[in-house]
Amino acid sequence: MGNHLTYQHGTQLGEHLELSLVIPVFNEAATVDLFIARITDVFKAEALVSLEMVFVNDGSTDTTLELLLQRQSTDPRIRIVDLSRNFGKEAALTAGLEAVTGQVVVPIDVDLQDPPEVILEMIARWREGYEVVLGHRVSRRNDSWAKQTSANWFYRLHNKISDQPLPENVGDFRLMDRCVVEALQTLPESRRFMKGLFAWVGFRTTHVDYERPERVAGESKFNGWRLWNFALEGITSFSTDPLKVWTYLGVCVSLVSFSFAIFIVLRTLFTGVDVPGYASLMVAVTFLGGLQLIGIGVLGEYLGRTYIESKRRPVYLVRRVYDAKD
Ligand code: UDP
Ligand code: MG
Repeated sequence: MGNHLTYQHGTQLGEHLELSLVIPVFNEAATVDLFIARITDVFKAEALVSLEMVFVNDGSTDTTLELLLQRQSTDPRIRIVDLSRNFGKEAALTAGLEAVTGQVVVPIDVDLQDPPEVILEMIARWREGYEVVLGHRVSRRNDSWAKQTSANWFYRLHNKISDQPLPENVGDFRLMDRCVVEALQTLPESRRFMKGLFAWVGFRTTHVDYERPERVAGESKFNGWRLWNFALEGITSFSTDPLKVWTYLGVCVSLVSFSFAIFIVLRTLFTGVDVPGYASLMVAVTFLGGLQLIGIGVLGEYLGRTYIESKRRPVYLVRRVYDAKD
């Protein structure tokens, strides 16, 4: 028996619509004002859209929270979920998605790398009956070469070995109907690779293209090591192939060594005992040692994740929610 979702896609063309933006922020004092101004600008002509901005403060150590509270005092569209520490973007998104009230929800970066104008196009597609409208980046030329190549490799590997392919060049920026958000909430895992979860829930999906600009201000929070771990998370969350491959590798290596053993026995029978062989011995020993360590490492990745998951800790902790009326 699967889960049954109660909500039905409803709104027709031209009807009033409640839109919730989910905006994770981590040390973004430099960008918050620019973001709010741009959103205000984009939506000021949209009489049919009532807007809610749910900022999730992901343990910022700068003045982001104070700034948001100040803006909230004059702007009732702003709601703030203040997390107790930095939990990472995935957890912050999860927190935001659980707090939203709108009919349609759009997770969006505060650095304006996800252009708010695109949301209007997304809404138009949603009104056509789609439940998910992905923001598809037509080019990544504003990303560094290293980020582009590693992203390419990641998608290729991920889509080869996991059951649920990820759409390429699609980030967290997307419009989701309420039913999709409710579906996401039924997923119980505490390690949340959002892109993968988004893809896993499915639903009627389309996309709109956009050009991804550079960050307006401040600095990226994702460096190489963080991205590598993010990629590991993605693969281990959606595929167990890296665990299984060792069986086959093991079988191949054993077959090779078995043939080699037969060869040595026969050679010894025919040509007598032959002491030299240090090089081949050493190679075999170190090679197999290396293989085994890698295998154990992969086991460790999964075991570690299973361990963390088995603790059933919450994905995030909220210090306080600030609604506009507070
Ligand atoms: N972010 C977050 N928690 C983190 C890291 C990032 O909430 O631990 C937010 C950040 O404030 C921004 C969004 O996630 O709104 C994307 O971050 P960033 O622009 O640094 O990533 P990039 O665009 O470089 O991948
Ligand atoms: Mg960014």
